[in-house]
Formats: sequence, C-alpha cells, structure tokens
Amino acid sequence: MAPAAPGARPGEFEVIARFFAPLAKGEAGALGLTDDAAILAPVAGNEFVVTVDMLTAGVHFLPDDPPDLVARKLLRVNLSDLAAMGATPRAYFLALGLPSSVDVAWFEAFSGGLAADQAAFGIALAGGDTTATPGPLVLSLTAIGEVPAGSAIRRSTARAGEDVYVTGTIGDAALALCIIDGRLRDLPAADTAHLIGRYRLPEPRVAFGPALRGLASAMIDVSDGLLADLGHICETSGIGAEIDFPQVPLSTAAARLVAGTPALAETVATGGDDYELLFTAPERTRGAITAAAARVGVRVARIGRTIAGGGVRLRDAAGLPIETARAGWRHF
Ligand code: ADP
Ligand code: MG
Repeated sequence: MAPAAPGARPGEFEVIARFFAPLAKGEAGALGLTDDAAILAPVAGNEFVVTVDMLTAGVHFLPDDPPDLVARKLLRVNLSDLAAMGATPRAYFLALGLPSSVDVAWFEAFSGGLAADQAAFGIALAGGDTTATPGPLVLSLTAIGEVPAGSAIRRSTARAGEDVYVTGTIGDAALALCIIDGRLRDLPAADTAHLIGRYRLPEPRVAFGPALRGLASAMIDVSDGLLADLGHICETSGIGAEIDFPQVPLSTAAARLVAGTPALAETVATGGDDYELLFTAPERTRGAITAAAARVGVRVARIGRTIAGGGVRLRDAAGLPIETARAGWRHF
C-alpha cells in the first residue's frame, strides 16, 4: 500500500504500522501491534491497577487544540489516576474515534506527543482500536500500572486524627478556565501563561504516588476540586476533615489573584483539573513523607487534618470557617 500523501487520510493499517507500532517497542507483550491482542503479566508478586479516561473534542478540549498537547493530556490524566493508587505505569491502550478532518499531520503530532510523554513517564503502548466517526474526535485511553499485591493506596482507608497533604499547587487550572472564558482579565502575561500551561498540561505525580506506598493511608488525585476530592476520601473513609486555607499551596500567579480578589479562594478550593495528589497519613510518617518528596523532587504541603464525624471544613488564617457555596463544600 502506498503511503498517503500529506494532508490525506492514511488507511487504518498504515496508521497502526507507521504511527502506533513505534510507540509499542518498550512493551514486549504488545507483539509490535501485529496480533489481535496483547499478552501481559505483572512482574512476579505484583498486581495490575487499571484505569480508563475518555476525552471528547468540544467537551474536554477545543477541536483546534494542538494534537500533541491533547495526546499528552490524555495520557497524563490516566497516569495521574495510576499515581493516585500508588501504581507504577506499565502499558496503555488507545481507542480512537476519528472524524474525517484527521490527516497525516494530525497523526504525526498526536503520536509525537505520546512518544515524548511515554519517554518522560516510563510507559509504552500495548494496543488499541481505530474507527471512523461522523461525530467529534473521541479519544479513550486505558492505562495499566503495577503495585506489589495488596499495596495499592485506596480512598477508603483514612482515619480520624491524621494529616492531610497535597502536592504541587492548587487552583491553577480553575483560574486558567476563568481566563479562557473571560471572567479574569488583565493579568501579567507571565501569570496567564503559567496558569493556562498548568491547565493544558498537568504534571502527573508518577514517581511520588508509588513512593507513598506504606506511608499514605488514603489517596486521590485532584480532578473534581480540592474540597470535593477530599470529600470523596472522607465519605468512603467515614470521617471528616479541616483544611487551613493559608496552608494550601498556590503558585505565584494564583497567590497574586487571591490576594487581589479574596473571593477567588473559593475558585481555588473548589475548582478541578489540578491532577495533584491529595492524601492522608498518620503523624508518625511526617519525616518519611518529607524525605520521599525531596527524593523525587515534588513539592508537598501539609494543609489540614482528618477528624471524627463528616464533611470538609475550610478555615481562614484566624481559624474561622470560610463559607463556600459551590459543590464540594458540605456544611455540618
Ligand atoms: P481487530 O480488527 O482484530 O480488532 P485491529 O486491526 O483493530 O484488529 O488492530 C490490529 C492491532 O493494532 C491490534 O494489536 C490492536 O491492538 C492495534 N491497534 C489498532 N488501533 C490501535 C491504536 N489506535 N493504538 C494502538 N494500537 C492499535
Ligand atoms: Mg480492532
């Protein structure tokens, strides 16, 4: 079969051989994407942790967003789910529903984005499916990670009287959305670039998640928002929590915005898409957590504590409750 001309739509087999098979080199079980399915076994003593996330053009990204960035975000949101379980990435599967506008240049950019992040995070493609669709571009990625059997970090195992931590900075993605939809304007250009960059390309905590096995009692990644996601830990664990807002780590750009408009504290605490790790841990692990964070080069902040009862309470510098109306906040 002759390769498709630039701008033309290549055939399914050409797409697999030219753009996807090279991404499968790192996983022997992928069989070079030449068979009907992959054959995988976990390393002896491990078990698989499996997650899937789907992105739809016009819903989760804009139809004209750069394909390499879309690819990397698709992989990264799944890597964040693996990290939140304490799992080390192993392989991923890719299902694509492609409108007719997708051409060779799109596949080049999309597979190039995947290649860059595969190398950065240590994962390889092991299979997938490619179909045409009359609808918008739809991308689904299934990621498989590994943990020593029984050591995955669940949401449901936090206890009252523990510390609450979060990695990185919180609220950047929510503030970026405010910039994109015009609610926030006239920021310094560097602040706008920083916030938009954090929204478009989250940083999954791939090394730190597994480093927390045996230290964190429960963990989740921040996709719905800090308060909502801590609420998920609290509900499944049957406890409550208090967060000291001044301890919540903010980027310079976010801190500037909140200082100018204190009401943005709510946006920061309830906005989603940060893909940072939010976890609980008993006090005796404080030193080990600080050491693990330093070892992998991740910023970690202790932002509050778990308590008996239920709900998530946000406190200001004086220890007074900050009232937030939006979802994620539950009154006692
Ligand atoms: P079948 O028709 O039997 O499902 P396909 O032609 O869909 O086979 O797939 C052939 C091989 O190519 C399989 O190993 C499959 O996993 C792989 N493959 C197909 N599409 C993709 C994709 N988008 N990404 C990665 N691998 C793919
Ligand atoms: Mg198929």
